[in-house]
Amino acid sequence: MEDGPLIGMRALLISDIHANLQALQAVLAAAPEHDVVWNLGDIVGYGGNPNEVIDESRRLGTVFVRGNHDRACSGLAGIEEFNPIAQRAARWTECVLTGEHRDWLQHLAAGPIMPDGPQVSCVHGSPIDEDEYILTLRDAWDSLQHPCSCITFFGHTHVQGGFATNGEEWFRLTPQYQAPPRRLGIRSTDHGAVPEQFELELREGARYLLNPGSVGQPRDGDWRAAFAIYDDARGVLTWHRVPYDVRGAQQQILRAGLPDRLASRLREGR
Ligand code: ZN
Repeated sequence: MEDGPLIGMRALLISDIHANLQALQAVLAAAPEHDVVWNLGDIVGYGGNPNEVIDESRRLGTVFVRGNHDRACSGLAGIEEFNPIAQRAARWTECVLTGEHRDWLQHLAAGPIMPDGPQVSCVHGSPIDEDEYILTLRDAWDSLQHPCSCITFFGHTHVQGGFATNGEEWFRLTPQYQAPPRRLGIRSTDHGAVPEQFELELREGARYLLNPGSVGQPRDGDWRAAFAIYDDARGVLTWHRVPYDVRGAQQQILRAGLPDRLASRLREGR
């Protein structure tokens, strides 16, 4: 098992949990059977349960890539680049983190890491720069040609989807769901929302940049927690969205004295 890719392995891909324990719990309850968990970073920052989310994340496995918030909240990087709300959240997180968790965050690996042989890489931002945002095909251009791996899993943008090329054509990939993403209702946490999934067949010879989306602070207009399952034997990536207890997560943010905006945006998926 130590050398070469695992046979018939299914990986649960999670990213940008951002200390949202309610969203992480919903993802774990909904996730289909899997063998490993690959965490693409930004475990903390913004949300109200950083210590609990680190405990839960560590319990899930050993494959982690560090995010910019993991660096900032553990004192490994400055917060000058952050907007004022993110700065406040980073300062609060650094204050409440246990010494052990702070130390653990400081020692997370920078991407790319290759947990399943050379064909697959995991990064936070991009294979070229861990802090780069890949939001458009233009952003994806250099990374898709980077001689890293055929498949690169990334996070950082909080937008579920990705990009691909067969060498001649370039594609943007967006999961198509039945239920249109809508603003979460005020009176109910689920508002009739249901879990959904969307399968992408991975073609031999093509190159992919694939984002599982954000568990704890989606920004693609769909408030449901996002994750993905990668099945290397079938060559399939399945994107998932799952409703979670948004109000519970909002209460934790407000109780911590964090800015209201960090709570209200969860309802909008922005
Ligand atoms: Zn993030």
